[in-house]
Amino acid sequence: MVKTKKNEYIFSDVSKIKGVGKRLAAYLKNKKIDKIKDLLWDMPYSYTDRSKSVKLDELQVGTIPTIKVRVIKYNFPRIRNLPNKITCEDEKGKIDIIFFNSREGYIRKILPMNEWVIISGKISYFKSKYQITNPDYITNIKNEGYVKKIIPKYSLTEGLTEKSYRKIVEEVLNNLPLIKEWHDEYFLKNMNFPYWKDAILNLHKISKDKKINSESYRRLAYDEIFSHLLILNENRKRIRKDKKKSKEFSGILSNQVIENLNFDLTNDQFKAISEINKDLKSSKKMFRILQGDVGSGKTIVSLIAALNTIESGSQCALMAPTEILAKQHYNVAKKILPNNINIQFLTGKTENKNKNKIILDLSEKKINLIIGTHSLFQKKVLFSNLGLAIVDEQHKFGVKQRMNLAKKGGLNCDVLLMSATPIPRTMMMSVYGDLDVSQIIEKPKKRKKTLTLSKPEEKVKELWPLIKKNIQNKNQVFWVCPLIEESKILEYSSAVKKYEYINKKFPNRVGLIHGSMNKFEKEVVLDNFLNKKIDILVSTTVIEVGVDFPDANLIIIENSDKFGLAQLHQLRGRVGRGFKEGMCILLYKKRLSSNAIKRIKILKSTDNGFLIAEKDMQLRGFGDIGGFQQSGIKYFKLADPVHHPDLFKIAEKEIKRILISPKEIEKKYNILLRLFDRAEVVNEIPD
Ligand code: ADP
Ligand code: MG
Repeated sequence: MVKTKKNEYIFSDVSKIKGVGKRLAAYLKNKKIDKIKDLLWDMPYSYTDRSKSVKLDELQVGTIPTIKVRVIKYNFPRIRNLPNKITCEDEKGKIDIIFFNSREGYIRKILPMNEWVIISGKISYFKSKYQITNPDYITNIKNEGYVKKIIPKYSLTEGLTEKSYRKIVEEVLNNLPLIKEWHDEYFLKNMNFPYWKDAILNLHKISKDKKINSESYRRLAYDEIFSHLLILNENRKRIRKDKKKSKEFSGILSNQVIENLNFDLTNDQFKAISEINKDLKSSKKMFRILQGDVGSGKTIVSLIAALNTIESGSQCALMAPTEILAKQHYNVAKKILPNNINIQFLTGKTENKNKNKIILDLSEKKINLIIGTHSLFQKKVLFSNLGLAIVDEQHKFGVKQRMNLAKKGGLNCDVLLMSATPIPRTMMMSVYGDLDVSQIIEKPKKRKKTLTLSKPEEKVKELWPLIKKNIQNKNQVFWVCPLIEESKILEYSSAVKKYEYINKKFPNRVGLIHGSMNKFEKEVVLDNFLNKKIDILVSTTVIEVGVDFPDANLIIIENSDKFGLAQLHQLRGRVGRGFKEGMCILLYKKRLSSNAIKRIKILKSTDNGFLIAEKDMQLRGFGDIGGFQQSGIKYFKLADPVHHPDLFKIAEKEIKRILISPKEIEKKYNILLRLFDRAEVVNEIPD
């Protein structure tokens, strides 16, 4: 076995690599390579074949050969902007080597007069002569073997050349330790998996298209999946390990509330309520996610859970990501819960005097239900007996925060998370492996399906009368302009322009919301929209999730082909939440790709978010799903559920099979967890 110290090499800073000084280290960091291990995952996407050596009468434009030539003439023009030109020859012909931005002294040094050298670079043809401009390699004859090769091609950023980056990678690969395997020998054999080090070395030799289904890649992807699921599983076990005080309640209060609603709960809502009730009554801590499409009615389910908790004699906290959403929940709770329940509202904006009173009342158990934003989880907010913490739109929080939450609530505190991000079935374990899941798939019965139409942009004229009619009918309108380029400035200007344009048509009835506004500025506009001071809201995709705009009935999405399916579905869910039929218009520029046409077709055909998520994943691949990126599910560097669904299943099984103690996990999988940045998480798991 290799000494542990040697393993530490891969976890050291890139500046520890021989030949990497401050400057190169900074360039590597631009490429998001901080630790040496980060460099391992950054694999070549292709390669350059420099293995052909040709004579100068066999040159072909566009090829990248390696040539052996002798320097015969210098031309260093003294005029600015003219390149330096060095003529070389072999026994068959001549070639010019052209340099932009290189000094004479340097050139004389690397290309000494009359000496034979090895040069490799792309051949071009200019004024009836062959030439190579700024060659990739110029070297002494004895280094021919180093250049005349198939050389891996990495994506490079400023400051890193093929040559310098190759040197760095080679240095690291040469120093790669032989790490003790964390998988059983027979398992590796069974799966046809190479050893870790071999897998890494292999992957730095092959191009991207061959890579993702290669044994080496699958081996490492499996490592990543395994480490991820291991952590989630550990978390699940530790949370449920300790006994909590089970909650006792008859459900009388909540049944009354359900009876008084002016609608019938759906079967899925009833099912979710009963699953939650069972958890509340159990002596194991609840750690459950309630998943359901936008508008599927999660809020009422969570308020029923709150009420039952209160009936059992405990307090409840409901946290939402924004003030406006928290306020909306507060209003709903005030409306439907019995009068004798003390409900309070706390956010960062709550005045100190009120805040102090609320904090005091909470600690004295005078408050039954507190609704608010992140401020609920400040240190000074102390509950007297918190029995249930509900977190809405949990995708704003990661695995780590999820764990902290489970900790903060204390032993007797159940945790209920809610999310409107549909996850494809195959991904459920990977995303929510530490949680139990309740799903609301069924939509409320009276809800009409939102009509989805697509229109080419030229027909935008047809929309003005439609908008006008909607406003006359007291409906509201969303107009979404996506970020087309990865640029805040562009995003801003396109939304601003659109706002100004629409504002001319509907003076003083239009609001604007975009990514460069801060949270408070956004909330003012959203408030105005909610209170119907404006009828049209122009926005980039930042429309706050979760907020119920009951009168919003029409959504127009520009450049809709730039969005993924799941994202379009989420946007569409912003309208038609009342009992009127909503309408979603997808504008597109001419000539849609076949994929975009498929997306629109799927969207028109179904409003089942889970189905849409599945299709989105198939169409775009997991890594690209916009909705997923936003939802904090960017766990994987290598693994891809679209390509490796089997590996996810196998890892799930393996983890169930290998019953080991937390201590052993630390020991056996330490390196693995650190390789995928998960060691930190395991330390934070409450025990
Ligand atoms: P979400 O799941 O997106 O959080 P909400 O809980 O905000 O959805 O519910 C959206 C709207 O649907 C609310 O106005 C709510 O009162 C209403 N609603 C919830 N359940 C039902 C139901 N079973 N039938 C009709 N309307 C419902
Ligand atoms: Mg909601």
